[in-house]
Amino acid sequence: MENTNQYICQCCGMPLGEETFSKEPDGSVNKEYCKWCYADGKFRYSSIEQLMDFIVPHMTNENYSEEQVREYFGKLLPQLKHWKQQ
Ligand SMILES: [Zn+2]
Repeated sequence: MENTNQYICQCCGMPLGEETFSKEPDGSVNKEYCKWCYADGKFRYSSIEQLMDFIVPHMTNENYSEEQVREYFGKLLPQLKHWKQQ
């Protein structure tokens, strides 16, 4: 079986696996993006700011403050392929 640990979404940075890979409109698997960022051939987020507005409230919890989450993703996201291309 293929080791999928190496894959992270190149849009939001989330670790990817068989359950979370996105699919192309023709049904083939796209291992670069998660199914939330990319669906039906379209990206859900058009800017890092838009993505951050979604991620921050979801990732903030008793262990990570909003500030920490913003700092972490603020560094991570610009390194991902999807945002580098822009
Ligand atoms: Zn994603």
